[in-house]
Amino acid sequence: MTKTMRAFRMVEWQKPPELVEIPVPEPGPGQVRVKVAGNGLCQSDLHMPHLPDALGQFMGWQMPFTLGHEVGGWVDAWGSGVTGWKEGQPVALISTRSCGACLECDAGFDNACTLNQRGRGYGMDGGIADYVLLENVRPLIPITKLDPKLAGPLTDAGTTSYHGVARVKEKLGPGRTALVIGAGGLGGFAIQYLKLLTQARILVVDTAADKRARAIELGADEVIDGLRDDLATEILRLTEGRGADAVLDFVGNDATVATSIACLAKLSTYAVIGAGEGKLAQPLMGALAGKNASIISFVGGTAADTRAALDLADQGLLRNDVELFDLADAQKAFDKLAAGELVGRGIIVP
Ligand SMILES: [Zn+2]
Ligand SMILES: [Zn+2]
Repeated sequence: MTKTMRAFRMVEWQKPPELVEIPVPEPGPGQVRVKVAGNGLCQSDLHMPHLPDALGQFMGWQMPFTLGHEVGGWVDAWGSGVTGWKEGQPVALISTRSCGACLECDAGFDNACTLNQRGRGYGMDGGIADYVLLENVRPLIPITKLDPKLAGPLTDAGTTSYHGVARVKEKLGPGRTALVIGAGGLGGFAIQYLKLLTQARILVVDTAADKRARAIELGADEVIDGLRDDLATEILRLTEGRGADAVLDFVGNDATVATSIACLAKLSTYAVIGAGEGKLAQPLMGALAGKNASIISFVGGTAADTRAALDLADQGLLRNDVELFDLADAQKAFDKLAAGELVGRGIIVP
């Protein structure tokens, strides 16, 4: 008799996910099965039931598939040709899918690999299940001290924010200012990386008082209420009119784009990370040229960023606030995420 497992899956386009019983996957040649310890929830998971099927099919997604792209767990079984791993070895899985052979992968930007249009939890079976099957060993990162149950969020939220800080770090020497907009999951990690890796003063904008209080605990030097009418003026006042040398915008809507552009210092970099669909409502030349400023944007982070984030966490240097949910309560966890009621990252534990 085939063994079965529980999996929280998309079974049809434009329908809510369901907790179902499916066969435990058997690893074929080169493949690895991981026993899931915990899978972190991401805002992007909330979009899955609402995606138009045409878009999913364009991306090569196959229905049904199990949700979840932030996985920590233990190596469980492998197919022929896989060597060097031990049964029960704690691991975190690199969230983005990549080939390792294209020009982008070759440049170290595996998060820009074309294969990443489809991956674990988005078009392929992900980690909100008892087990997850890897098509090869590429996603496996060994962890030592860190509890694998808590590792998932570091592979996505902790990785994307690390990538943002790594891309602007050179702008943040002594006497410089970093501006973080949005102090949620990603912003909270970014504040900690800025504190650990740069000498910059850290200003944080958020509309929620509890997130501003947490930002101070994580290392922010100043917090500013995002609902202020004079937000840009206040940021400029706090930087003596100079503005910020790097802006990490984890919201990315019209209001935060306008504020960020107004607050750029000379030679600064504006990283647009949040998917708030903001528009630049003024000529690019006027906004950037006089300041020699640049705008960057990206999706996710690289494998190297994930290794760096996990290394900091393994050393006990990162605070990773989480709320744990049993796999049977997966829908409840999604509902709390959608309602904005999660304090830290939600993690589904099988
Ligand atoms: Zn994600
Ligand atoms: Zn590639």
